[in-house]
Amino acid sequence: MVQFTNVEFAYPDHAFAMSIPGLSVDDGQHVAIIGPSGSGKSTLVNLIAGALVPQKGSITTCNTKLTGLDDAARRRFRLKHIGMVFQEFALLDYLNVRDNILLPYRLGALAMPADASERADKLAQSVGLDRHLKRHPQQLSFGERQRVAICRALVTAPSLVLADEPTGNLDAATTNEVMTILANCVKASNATLIMVTHNTELMDRFDRTIDVTQFEAAAQR
Ligand code: ADP
Repeated sequence: MVQFTNVEFAYPDHAFAMSIPGLSVDDGQHVAIIGPSGSGKSTLVNLIAGALVPQKGSITTCNTKLTGLDDAARRRFRLKHIGMVFQEFALLDYLNVRDNILLPYRLGALAMPADASERADKLAQSVGLDRHLKRHPQQLSFGERQRVAICRALVTAPSLVLADEPTGNLDAATTNEVMTILANCVKASNATLIMVTHNTELMDRFDRTIDVTQFEAAAQR
């Protein structure tokens, strides 16, 4: 599912660098990425997604070797195979819930299948949003907004869902509710979940944790 081999990454003109000799995540696993702020969690997620490219080594995600693909090919790969959930939800206020869920199909790289709308509605129903399909994000609670984002991440039936602090803006009760929904939706679509979190209370919901502090490296300047 995800395989890193001898990966070295540094931001240009920045003292932060990561060295990842080997890392693999199996199909269907639910993995938490942990580490203090600034330790490289988002960087690791972006490397897995092919949004960042290492200076050395190889990264294979969902059976595709990302290192070696150009920017456009990696973007197409991302839209097709990966669902993303963010802390700030990243919903578009001028679109209603149904159109926000269908957003991955409006970004140009994927043809909208005939049953996409039906699939969006079914996903919304599975997370209890069916009454809200015509509403806009600002008319929803934060927990409801994150449920829309979870549906959007899953509408293309991706094999990998990457979530970066998806409960960071939610209170404890809503965190539990959204985590249960996220894990259930990912399981129902036989996907893999890789999620950044600070929340130690969520750890026992995952098959394993990856502590990124082990990958800290001295930057070559
Ligand atoms: P975390 O997700 O664990 O908080 P990040 O992966 O966001 O950590 O960041 C790791 C380090 O890389 C930090 O020192 C951060 O300032 C730096 N960093 C993050 N993004 C960039 C960037 N686009 N350019 C330069 N440095 C960055």
